[in-house]
Amino acid sequence: MNICVVGTGYVGLVTGACFAEFGNKVVCVDNDETKIRNLKRGILPIYEPGLEEIVRKNSKEDRLSFTTDLGNAIQQSLVIFIAVGTPSREDGSADLSYVEGVAREIASHLNGYKVIVTKSTVPVGTGAKIQEIIQKNKKEGGEFDIVSNPEFLREGSAIEDFMRPNRVVIGTNGSQAIAILKDLYRPLYLIETPFVITDVVSAEMIKYASNAFLATKVSFINEMAALCERVNADVHQVAKGMGLDRRIGSKFLHPGPGFGGSCFPKDTKALTQISREQGYTFEIVEAVIRVNEKQRDRMVEKIRGAVGDLQNKTLGVLGLSFKPNTDDIRESPSVAIIESLLKKGSTIRAFDPIAMDEAKKVLKNVYYGSDAYETAKGCDALILMTEWNQFRNLDLDRIKSIITQPVFIDLRNVYDPLRMAKLGFRYIGVGRKPSEF
Ligand code: NAD
Repeated sequence: MNICVVGTGYVGLVTGACFAEFGNKVVCVDNDETKIRNLKRGILPIYEPGLEEIVRKNSKEDRLSFTTDLGNAIQQSLVIFIAVGTPSREDGSADLSYVEGVAREIASHLNGYKVIVTKSTVPVGTGAKIQEIIQKNKKEGGEFDIVSNPEFLREGSAIEDFMRPNRVVIGTNGSQAIAILKDLYRPLYLIETPFVITDVVSAEMIKYASNAFLATKVSFINEMAALCERVNADVHQVAKGMGLDRRIGSKFLHPGPGFGGSCFPKDTKALTQISREQGYTFEIVEAVIRVNEKQRDRMVEKIRGAVGDLQNKTLGVLGLSFKPNTDDIRESPSVAIIESLLKKGSTIRAFDPIAMDEAKKVLKNVYYGSDAYETAKGCDALILMTEWNQFRNLDLDRIKSIITQPVFIDLRNVYDPLRMAKLGFRYIGVGRKPSEF
């Protein structure tokens, strides 16, 4: 099948590469000329484990190509995926200008029947808006169906998530479109991936509902951690005890510096905005956002509690991306916390295995180390911000010998408080009993 994917970011590039891997002929389009020039040379704009190999292999075998020529790509394709960004506007609502721009382009190049699929996360009613734009601007003879096919991949494990999703959601009113998308996703059908076939509006809502619910779990356990600290309980044990209840589940019950990344903060804000537009206040999600914003301040306060006045302190930071296995620093708690520490007069030494180039674009007055140990040199405390695997098993004796004060602030609760205390560290986690017990 000939397909076209518009937008070559995390979602578009993974979608294009994986559909090519399924045997389709895919053309990926972006209006960023540098990105496309690089992709043609095999240079990826993002870090995502396993992606480079799939892109290289499918480009070589002529199933995957890259272009800035959207019109030509539309005309060659039966299915067009829209995977451009939908960032937050000032008021929290999703900026649909990129999606609508692509819809207008599609309309002006429509030749014959096309299935137009939204993969970007878009507010309820966007499918109808796209339908209207295309209907109004298309030439005669151009037939089409609109589909909402939200994407649930997680950065850092995007290929696995695309190839083995928990479900595929297809929202459309067109029976021909359902048949075509089922055909496209046939490899997943064969491994018995559940399909949710529904209308466009419900599909759009499923994506926001899912992300808002996961974000709720994160904010819930972060509040629970704050309470555990006050009553001397261990949130790890609490989360374990909760998570073993299958009605609750253990996922997303890890306390930390709050959720970040390109999706949860943006999608929770968009959902509350959609609600407000309908005259309804989505109380729970409003609170989830507030708790998450406060969590970053709480972490700064925790660091201050550990080292005293932040003025003139040297702090080592391990991890800059919003989670491991990605170079994405959008809405990263680590970046926000560093900015706050810098404002309060601390000196920051930081290291991240992959995200330092991205971080350098936004965090200027930071010393970037060559590894965890060199970064820890001369620090008044070491702060674990992102739980990359290589930070899970640090040589703690070595850290202790080079750090000025043996203070370890573990914002991801990776280390065991008792072990850290035995090693002579003052250990501070999130919602855990202090090390002096
Ligand atoms: P991104 O910012 O990484 O990529 C978007 C790409 O679209 C950019 O390369 C940009 O140059 C391109 N673009 C913008 N306007 C264009 C146009 N008119 N023509 C061609 N290309 C254009 O975004 P992303 O993280 O891949 O997210 C895309 C969408 O998918 C968003 O709605 C997001 O919420 C959703 N989503 C993201 C994730 C994730 O983990 N990143 C997961 C699920 C869903």
